[in-house]
Amino acid sequence: MKIIEAIHEMHHAAEDLRQQGKRIAVVPTMGYLHDGHLSLIRVAKQHADVVITTIFVNPTQFGPNEDFTKYPRDLDRDKKLAASVESDILFVPSAEAMYPELYRTYVIVEQLSEVLEGKSRPSHFRGVTTVVTKLFNITRPHVAVFGQKDAQQAIVINQMVKDLNVDIEIIVVPIVREHDGLAMSSRNLYLSATERMQSTVLFRSLQLAEELIDRGERQSSGIISEMTKLITSQPSARIDYISLTEPATLQEVSTLCSGKTVLISLAVWIGTTRLIDNILKVIP
Ligand code: AMP
Repeated sequence: MKIIEAIHEMHHAAEDLRQQGKRIAVVPTMGYLHDGHLSLIRVAKQHADVVITTIFVNPTQFGPNEDFTKYPRDLDRDKKLAASVESDILFVPSAEAMYPELYRTYVIVEQLSEVLEGKSRPSHFRGVTTVVTKLFNITRPHVAVFGQKDAQQAIVINQMVKDLNVDIEIIVVPIVREHDGLAMSSRNLYLSATERMQSTVLFRSLQLAEELIDRGERQSSGIISEMTKLITSQPSARIDYISLTEPATLQEVSTLCSGKTVLISLAVWIGTTRLIDNILKVIP
């Protein structure tokens, strides 16, 4: 696996690959890789000749009081993990190179960036769409792979690609979970042993929502109130939001309609760690 740090070197390597007729996939990550990231790389391998995994803890997508400085970083470990699933290139740019002094340009996807995660983290998606655009321009991919774990991110990026006529296929890969249902995340590292046990309540509340829907509940308010009861039974848990939305528009749905798909998503603080999870549910 080739490790590239310089932007101009990555740019040239991507151009060379394109000239050789190779199909390029990119998998953008913030590193501290886990099996969720590795499943993205495996899917990318199936869709391209060359997979570029990027590792960049992107400062512009963190708010001022968020965990940018303490976000876990371990490049040696990431190198081994990315190589184990045959990523061909690991692109690891520096923050100084990505955002030099006098950096001025941001990409904003309106409306979709302002709800759910965007409400709690106001400049988050501006940072995400900007860095993803930069990574697309640097790695010149034919296909880009993202995780359903960040459902809204995938929706925002799909909208950006469509609106800006970006000729890149976007693939979204299902959530990889721990054996007890907790969605894998680099941030799970922050949890104490007790918090780790309590953190399973996110997925359990999504399963409860699914059961309620299967038993005939069609009012979002009823589902949210049962999920709230379950989550708040855990002493370390504090709900940021629970939401049932239409997946394409992220508009809140109050009454569920048969045959439609609803995105049930939530953000919950477990102690000082903010976790997110979601499911897509087809209404019977
Ligand atoms: P991150 O490093 O957290 O920015 O995530 C990089 C990519 O991996 C994003 O597209 C995430 O949605 C995806 N991802 C993170 N965790 C998981 C997971 N548990 N299952 C599937 N994809 C994931």
